[in-house]
Amino acid sequence: MRKKLIAANWKMYKTPEQARDFVAAFLPQVREHRRDEVVLCPAFVSIPAVVEALGHSSGIGVGGQDVFWENEGAYTGEISAFMLSAAGCSHVIIGHSERRQYFGETDDTVNRKLRAALLGGLKPIVCVGEVIQEREAGLTEDVLRRQCSTAFRGISGAQAIPMAVAYEPVWAIGTGKTATPELAGEAHRVIRAEVAEAFGEGVAGQMRILYGGSVKPENAKLLMSHPDIDGALVGGASLDPKSFAAIVKSVFQK
Ligand code: PEP
Repeated sequence: MRKKLIAANWKMYKTPEQARDFVAAFLPQVREHRRDEVVLCPAFVSIPAVVEALGHSSGIGVGGQDVFWENEGAYTGEISAFMLSAAGCSHVIIGHSERRQYFGETDDTVNRKLRAALLGGLKPIVCVGEVIQEREAGLTEDVLRRQCSTAFRGISGAQAIPMAVAYEPVWAIGTGKTATPELAGEAHRVIRAEVAEAFGEGVAGQMRILYGGSVKPENAKLLMSHPDIDGALVGGASLDPKSFAAIVKSVFQK
Protein backbone atom coordinates (compact mmCIF):
# COMPACT_ATOMS: atom_id res chain seq x y z
CA MET A 1 0.00 0.00 0.00
CA ARG A 2 1.51 3.35 -1.02
CA LYS A 3 1.05 6.16 1.48
CA LYS A 4 -0.80 9.14 -0.02
CA LEU A 5 1.04 12.42 -0.54
CA ILE A 6 -0.83 15.73 -0.64
CA ALA A 7 1.12 18.79 -1.79
CA ALA A 8 0.02 22.42 -1.92
CA ASN A 9 1.34 24.49 -4.82
CA TRP A 10 0.86 28.11 -3.81
CA LYS A 11 2.29 29.41 -7.08
CA MET A 12 2.97 33.20 -6.95
CA TYR A 13 0.67 33.83 -4.00
CA LYS A 14 1.27 34.68 -0.32
CA THR A 15 3.83 37.00 1.19
CA PRO A 16 5.78 35.67 4.21
CA GLU A 17 3.20 37.21 6.51
CA GLN A 18 0.28 35.66 4.62
CA ALA A 19 2.09 32.32 4.59
CA ARG A 20 2.52 32.49 8.39
CA ASP A 21 -1.18 33.27 8.78
CA PHE A 22 -2.05 30.24 6.64
CA VAL A 23 0.03 27.91 8.82
CA ALA A 24 -1.48 29.34 12.02
CA ALA A 25 -4.98 28.65 10.71
CA PHE A 26 -4.17 25.32 9.03
CA LEU A 27 -2.31 23.43 11.78
CA PRO A 28 -5.14 23.29 14.34
CA GLN A 29 -7.50 21.95 11.64
CA VAL A 30 -5.33 18.93 10.85
CA ARG A 31 -4.24 18.23 14.40
CA GLU A 32 -6.16 14.95 14.56
CA HIS A 33 -4.82 13.59 11.32
CA ARG A 34 -1.69 12.00 9.94
CA ARG A 35 0.29 14.82 8.46
CA ASP A 36 3.61 13.26 7.61
CA GLU A 37 2.83 13.22 3.91
CA VAL A 38 1.54 16.76 3.56
CA VAL A 39 3.80 19.33 1.88
CA LEU A 40 3.42 23.10 1.48
CA CYS A 41 5.20 24.69 -1.50
CA PRO A 42 5.34 28.47 -1.01
CA ALA A 43 7.10 31.08 -3.16
CA PHE A 44 10.85 31.10 -2.43
CA VAL A 45 10.71 34.23 -0.23
CA SER A 46 8.06 32.65 2.00
CA ILE A 47 9.92 29.37 2.59
CA PRO A 48 11.69 30.53 5.80
CA ALA A 49 8.41 31.88 7.22
CA VAL A 50 6.63 28.57 6.57
CA VAL A 51 9.50 26.47 7.95
CA GLU A 52 9.54 28.58 11.10
CA ALA A 53 5.76 28.63 11.53
CA LEU A 54 5.51 24.84 11.12
CA GLY A 55 8.24 24.26 13.72
CA HIS A 56 10.05 20.98 14.25
CA SER A 57 7.17 18.74 15.23
CA SER A 58 4.37 19.51 12.79
CA GLY A 59 5.38 16.65 10.50
CA ILE A 60 4.50 18.78 7.48
CA GLY A 61 7.08 19.14 4.73
CA VAL A 62 8.05 22.26 2.81
CA GLY A 63 8.93 22.32 -0.87
CA GLY A 64 10.22 24.71 -3.51
CA GLN A 65 8.26 25.25 -6.71
CA ASP A 66 11.32 24.99 -8.96
CA VAL A 67 15.07 24.41 -8.77
CA PHE A 68 18.10 25.03 -11.00
CA TRP A 69 20.50 22.24 -11.95
CA GLU A 70 23.77 23.82 -10.77
CA ASN A 71 24.77 24.06 -7.12
CA GLU A 72 25.91 27.67 -7.35
CA GLY A 73 27.29 30.15 -9.87
CA ALA A 74 26.48 33.16 -12.03
CA TYR A 75 22.85 32.27 -12.70
CA THR A 76 20.88 35.38 -11.79
CA GLY A 77 17.48 34.65 -10.34
CA GLU A 78 18.01 30.91 -9.91
CA ILE A 79 18.06 28.74 -6.79
CA SER A 80 19.83 25.42 -6.18
CA ALA A 81 18.78 22.20 -4.51
CA PHE A 82 21.43 22.81 -1.89
CA MET A 83 19.95 26.25 -1.12
CA LEU A 84 16.40 24.90 -0.88
CA SER A 85 17.57 22.18 1.43
CA ALA A 86 19.53 24.64 3.59
CA ALA A 87 16.36 26.76 3.87
CA GLY A 88 14.47 23.76 5.29
CA CYS A 89 12.86 22.23 2.18
CA SER A 90 12.34 18.50 1.90
CA HIS A 91 10.59 18.53 -1.48
CA VAL A 92 10.60 20.39 -4.78
CA ILE A 93 8.13 20.62 -7.68
CA ILE A 94 9.81 20.20 -11.06
CA GLY A 95 8.43 20.78 -14.56
CA HIS A 96 5.07 22.26 -13.63
CA SER A 97 3.09 23.02 -16.80
CA GLU A 98 3.18 26.76 -15.99
CA ARG A 99 6.98 26.60 -16.07
CA ARG A 100 6.82 24.69 -19.35
CA GLN A 101 4.30 27.16 -20.80
CA TYR A 102 5.70 30.52 -19.63
CA PHE A 103 9.38 29.90 -18.87
CA GLY A 104 10.62 27.64 -21.63
CA GLU A 105 10.99 24.51 -19.52
CA THR A 106 11.51 21.42 -21.68
CA ASP A 107 11.68 17.68 -21.04
CA ASP A 108 15.45 18.08 -21.11
CA THR A 109 15.59 20.86 -18.48
CA VAL A 110 13.19 18.83 -16.35
CA ASN A 111 15.67 15.95 -16.51
CA ARG A 112 18.60 18.19 -15.50
CA LYS A 113 16.62 19.68 -12.61
CA LEU A 114 15.41 16.27 -11.48
CA ARG A 115 18.94 14.87 -11.34
CA ALA A 116 20.16 17.92 -9.41
CA ALA A 117 17.28 17.72 -6.93
CA LEU A 118 17.90 14.02 -6.24
CA LEU A 119 21.65 14.60 -5.83
CA GLY A 120 20.84 17.48 -3.47
CA GLY A 121 18.74 15.21 -1.25
CA LEU A 122 15.34 16.69 -2.13
CA LYS A 123 12.21 14.66 -2.87
CA PRO A 124 11.11 15.81 -6.30
CA ILE A 125 7.51 15.98 -7.50
CA VAL A 126 7.86 15.80 -11.27
CA CYS A 127 4.90 17.13 -13.24
CA VAL A 128 3.76 15.67 -16.54
CA GLY A 129 0.53 16.05 -18.49
CA GLU A 130 -1.01 16.68 -21.87
CA VAL A 131 -2.62 19.83 -23.27
CA ILE A 132 -6.18 19.60 -24.57
CA GLN A 133 -5.11 19.46 -28.25
CA GLU A 134 -2.90 16.47 -27.49
CA ARG A 135 -5.73 14.68 -25.68
CA GLU A 136 -8.17 15.39 -28.50
CA ALA A 137 -5.66 14.12 -31.04
CA GLY A 138 -5.28 10.84 -29.11
CA LEU A 139 -1.69 11.68 -28.17
CA THR A 140 -1.95 11.57 -24.36
CA GLU A 141 -0.11 8.29 -23.95
CA ASP A 142 2.69 9.33 -26.32
CA VAL A 143 3.11 12.66 -24.53
CA LEU A 144 3.24 11.08 -21.08
CA ARG A 145 5.71 8.43 -22.25
CA ARG A 146 7.97 11.05 -23.85
CA GLN A 147 7.83 13.41 -20.83
CA CYS A 148 8.61 10.57 -18.42
CA SER A 149 11.31 8.80 -20.40
CA THR A 150 13.23 12.05 -20.98
CA ALA A 151 12.78 13.21 -17.38
CA PHE A 152 14.10 9.87 -16.05
CA ARG A 153 17.21 9.70 -18.28
CA GLY A 154 20.49 9.01 -16.44
CA ILE A 155 18.78 8.27 -13.09
CA SER A 156 19.20 4.88 -11.42
CA GLY A 157 16.45 2.91 -9.70
CA ALA A 158 18.08 3.50 -6.30
CA GLN A 159 18.26 7.26 -6.92
CA ALA A 160 14.64 7.42 -8.09
CA ILE A 161 13.06 6.14 -4.87
CA PRO A 162 12.37 9.55 -3.21
CA MET A 163 10.66 10.84 -6.35
CA ALA A 164 6.93 11.24 -6.99
CA VAL A 165 5.29 12.01 -10.33
CA ALA A 166 2.26 14.30 -10.62
CA TYR A 167 -0.09 13.69 -13.52
CA GLU A 168 -1.51 17.13 -14.25
CA PRO A 169 -3.58 17.31 -17.42
CA VAL A 170 -3.01 20.92 -18.45
CA TRP A 171 -6.68 21.36 -19.41
CA ALA A 172 -7.65 20.66 -15.79
CA ILE A 173 -5.25 23.09 -14.08
CA GLY A 174 -7.02 26.11 -12.66
CA THR A 175 -9.99 25.56 -14.97
CA GLY A 176 -12.44 23.87 -12.62
CA LYS A 177 -12.48 20.87 -15.00
CA THR A 178 -11.37 17.74 -13.20
CA ALA A 179 -10.33 14.46 -14.77
CA THR A 180 -12.57 11.59 -13.74
CA PRO A 181 -10.86 9.06 -11.46
CA GLU A 182 -11.01 6.55 -14.34
CA LEU A 183 -9.35 8.91 -16.82
CA ALA A 184 -6.66 9.88 -14.29
CA GLY A 185 -6.20 6.21 -13.36
CA GLU A 186 -5.58 5.34 -17.01
CA ALA A 187 -2.89 8.03 -17.30
CA HIS A 188 -1.36 6.89 -14.01
CA ARG A 189 -1.03 3.36 -15.38
CA VAL A 190 0.83 4.70 -18.43
CA ILE A 191 3.17 6.66 -16.14
CA ARG A 192 3.73 3.66 -13.86
CA ALA A 193 4.63 1.53 -16.89
CA GLU A 194 7.20 4.17 -17.89
CA VAL A 195 8.57 4.20 -14.32
CA ALA A 196 8.84 0.39 -14.47
CA GLU A 197 10.68 0.55 -17.77
CA ALA A 198 13.15 3.12 -16.45
CA PHE A 199 13.67 1.88 -12.89
CA GLY A 200 12.21 -1.63 -12.63
CA GLU A 201 8.97 -3.07 -11.25
CA GLY A 202 10.09 -2.75 -7.62
CA VAL A 203 10.50 1.03 -7.82
CA ALA A 204 7.33 1.36 -9.93
CA GLY A 205 5.34 -0.44 -7.24
CA GLN A 206 6.52 2.02 -4.59
CA MET A 207 6.43 5.30 -6.51
CA ARG A 208 3.62 7.72 -5.70
CA ILE A 209 1.80 9.06 -8.73
CA LEU A 210 -0.28 12.08 -7.77
CA TYR A 211 -3.16 13.68 -9.61
CA GLY A 212 -3.35 17.46 -10.04
CA GLY A 213 -6.00 19.58 -11.76
CA SER A 214 -8.80 21.37 -9.93
CA VAL A 215 -8.71 19.10 -6.87
CA LYS A 216 -11.16 20.52 -4.31
CA PRO A 217 -12.70 19.38 -1.04
CA GLU A 218 -15.76 18.18 -3.01
CA ASN A 219 -13.88 15.85 -5.35
CA ALA A 220 -10.76 14.87 -3.38
CA LYS A 221 -12.16 11.81 -1.65
CA LEU A 222 -13.51 10.24 -4.83
CA LEU A 223 -10.29 10.90 -6.78
CA MET A 224 -8.05 9.70 -3.97
CA SER A 225 -10.01 6.50 -3.40
CA HIS A 226 -8.94 5.24 -6.84
CA PRO A 227 -6.23 2.60 -6.27
CA ASP A 228 -3.90 4.08 -8.92
CA ILE A 229 -4.04 7.65 -7.52
CA ASP A 230 -1.54 8.08 -4.69
CA GLY A 231 -2.20 11.67 -3.71
CA ALA A 232 -2.74 15.14 -5.05
CA LEU A 233 -0.93 18.28 -6.12
CA VAL A 234 -3.35 21.07 -5.29
CA GLY A 235 -3.17 24.63 -6.62
CA GLY A 236 -6.10 27.00 -6.11
CA ALA A 237 -7.81 25.03 -3.35
CA SER A 238 -4.60 24.93 -1.29
CA LEU A 239 -4.53 28.71 -0.81
CA ASP A 240 -7.29 28.67 1.78
CA PRO A 241 -6.42 26.84 5.02
CA LYS A 242 -9.98 25.60 5.47
CA SER A 243 -10.27 24.12 2.00
CA PHE A 244 -6.78 22.58 2.04
CA ALA A 245 -7.44 21.10 5.49
CA ALA A 246 -10.71 19.66 4.18
CA ILE A 247 -8.78 17.96 1.33
CA VAL A 248 -6.17 16.57 3.72
CA LYS A 249 -8.85 15.29 6.09
CA SER A 250 -10.94 13.72 3.33
CA VAL A 251 -7.92 11.80 2.09
CA PHE A 252 -6.52 10.59 5.40
CA GLN A 253 -9.79 10.02 7.22
CA LYS A 254 -10.97 6.44 7.06
C1 PEP B 1 -1.38 23.05 -9.91
O1 PEP B 1 -1.04 24.22 -9.97
O2 PEP B 1 -0.52 22.17 -9.83
C2 PEP B 1 -2.81 22.75 -9.92
C3 PEP B 1 -3.18 21.49 -10.01
O3 PEP B 1 -3.68 23.81 -9.85
P1 PEP B 1 -5.28 23.75 -9.56
O4 PEP B 1 -5.47 22.81 -8.40
O5 PEP B 1 -5.65 25.15 -9.25
O6 PEP B 1 -5.91 23.21 -10.80
